[in-house]
Amino acid sequence: MVFAGLSERLQETFRKLRGKGRLTEADVNEALREVRMALLEADVNFKVVKDFIARIKEKAVGQELIESLNPAQHVVKVVHGELVALMGGSNSKINMAPKPPTVIMMVGLNGAGKTTTSAKLANYLRKQGRRPLLVAADVYRPAAVKQLQVLGEQLGIPVFADGTGKEPVSIGLAAAESAVTGGRDVVIIDTAGRQEVNEELMAELEAMKEAIRPHEVLLVVDAMTGQAAVGVAETFNSRLGLDGVILTKLDGDTRGGAALSVRAVTGKPIKFAGLGEKLDALEPFHPDRMAERILG
Ligand code: GDP
Repeated sequence: MVFAGLSERLQETFRKLRGKGRLTEADVNEALREVRMALLEADVNFKVVKDFIARIKEKAVGQELIESLNPAQHVVKVVHGELVALMGGSNSKINMAPKPPTVIMMVGLNGAGKTTTSAKLANYLRKQGRRPLLVAADVYRPAAVKQLQVLGEQLGIPVFADGTGKEPVSIGLAAAESAVTGGRDVVIIDTAGRQEVNEELMAELEAMKEAIRPHEVLLVVDAMTGQAAVGVAETFNSRLGLDGVILTKLDGDTRGGAALSVRAVTGKPIKFAGLGEKLDALEPFHPDRMAERILG
């Protein structure tokens, strides 16, 4: 499970701290050194770790600590609060358009889980009472169009596909129009990715955003890729201006660094987490629950 290693190390650190009763500043510093190591080993961005530890030091040592009835608990509370803040504070929802349809552009690299996540998101929104339309705009990969059609069929959610060599922009525009006539209130566009970030992809997505003016641009990134995921998020955000990130494969044996760094590095919230291959394995990302999972 994600964060297993980090969670174990932090719990061990705090167990030791609790065993001490009265705490000296040296005890707290030793514990924070261990927290720092555990975060770095979980693949959290170096700069993020540095700032994180500095903020905790500010709050967890000094007068307040000396005066607190249970100093170890005080330190844990501070770490918990900072973990929650690091991951964005509270859950961020999708911005729904005041006048439907809400258009959501899903972007990301190939293999990140973009097509699966588009279907999962449609499924999730339908459960919330929405009427989604999926749009296959990955025109370079006929297999991706087919994949989305199969997923849509499984879910009983319509898929707009016009794979006859049309430009992604015109597909997106036609889909939005068809949503209006078909009474669909959310349009989820599965855009084309690439193996890696390149200029062609960025220019294409920029043009699409400009023409379609989506209400949300969501980046799908693979949490298993750790720091690379954070780098991808940074680039996409600087070129496209993301509204949020969806982290996939958090069910895998990832060290969790991406989940702890993406928000701090990009300033953009993680809105959902993918927790498996099944179409219901998508959950709103809750920083507080995630912090509780980490601290046990
Ligand atoms: P795309 O190329 O970005 O469209 O990626 P796909 O949607 O085809 O997904 C690539 C692979 O990742 C597929 O085998 C998916 O089943 C798998 N996948 C996607 N999301 C998750 C997730 O949250 N957890 C796990 N374990 N696998 C996922």
